[in-house]
Amino acid sequence: MMRDVGFLYSHSRLSSFDNCPRAFRYRYVDKITVDVQSIEAFMGKLVHSVAEKVNLVTATGKVPSLPSVLRRYEIMWDEAYHPSQVRVVREGTEPDLYRSIGARCTENFYRRHYPFDLDESLGIEEKVLFNLEPTGKYKLRGVIDRLVRTRADGIEIHDYKTGQRVPSQKIADRDRQLALYQLAVRERFPDEPVTLVWHYLASDRVRTSERSPEQLEALRAETVERIDVAEAETEYSPKTGPLCGWCEYNDRCEAGRSHLGLEPPAAESEPPHTVPDAFETASPPADEAPPADLEPAPPVVETPTQVLEPTRPEPTPPARQLDLFS
Ligand code: SF4
Repeated sequence: MMRDVGFLYSHSRLSSFDNCPRAFRYRYVDKITVDVQSIEAFMGKLVHSVAEKVNLVTATGKVPSLPSVLRRYEIMWDEAYHPSQVRVVREGTEPDLYRSIGARCTENFYRRHYPFDLDESLGIEEKVLFNLEPTGKYKLRGVIDRLVRTRADGIEIHDYKTGQRVPSQKIADRDRQLALYQLAVRERFPDEPVTLVWHYLASDRVRTSERSPEQLEALRAETVERIDVAEAETEYSPKTGPLCGWCEYNDRCEAGRSHLGLEPPAAESEPPHTVPDAFETASPPADEAPPADLEPAPPVVETPTQVLEPTRPEPTPPARQLDLFS
C-alpha cells in the first residue's frame, strides 16, 4: 500500500530497482550492508578520489605533476586494497590488471584536463538534493563529480566513468543520471546552456548530450512515476542475469546462485521485511558512491591506451607545476 509520506531517491537507488527488485529490497528495504565490493567498484572509487584531489588542488591555481598524481594513486591503492574485501569476478583476471587500468584512467584524466585552466570548477563532488515536484513529496539526491563553467559561459555537468564500455550517443541521450542533475541545478543557471559530459577514462573518450526543457519535464514526470512503482512493490522478484556475478547479495540470493550454477545458500537469509523510513538520512552503501561499473560485457582486457580524439600536447612541467602529492 502506498504510504502518504515523502520519498528520498537517487539515480543509484532507482537503477537498483530497475536492475533487480530483489537486490533493491536487500539494500534499501532490508538495509543489509556487506563489506565486500567488486574490484571494478573499488578501482572506480579510487580513481574518483584521485580525480577529486586533483580537481580541488587545481581549482586553487596549482598543478600537481603527472608522476606525483600517479604516485598518489598507487599509494592510495596500497592503503585501501584488502583482498578479503574486494572481489574479482571475471575469470582469468588478476587485481593488478585493474590496478593498471585505474592508473591508465588516472593518467587519461590528467592529460585530458591539463593544464587545468580550460574552464572553471563551480563544484567538485557537489552534493545535490532537490524536489521533483512542488509538494516536496519526491526528493532526489546525488553527487555531481564536477560542475563546470566553460569559457563560453556555458554550464557543464561532468561525470567520470572507469568502465571499459563507451555507450552509443543514443544511449547517452537517454541517460537519466546527469539529466537528473541538470534538473537539480537548473534553477541556479536558468539562462545558461547546460551540457552533460561523460569522461570514459579507460579509453579516453568523451560523450556529451543536451536536454530540452520538454525532455527534462518528461524525465521529471517519469521519475516520479518510477518512484511510485518502486514504493508500491511488494514482491521484489529476483531478476537474474549477467549482473548476478557482481551482485553483492549473491551469497544469499537463491535465484542468483542458481543462475550462476552455484549451490543454494545454506539457509537463504530472509531478514525481517521492513519498509524504509521516509527521507532516511543514513547513507546507503552505494547510493552516492561513484558508479560501480557493474558492466557485464565486454571482457576486461588490457589494451594500449586509445586516444581516439585529437591528441593533446604532452604535459610539460611549467614553473607552477608542483609535486603536491609526493
Ligand atoms: S544475485 Fe541476481 S537475482 Fe539475486 S539479488 Fe543479485 S542481481 Fe538479483
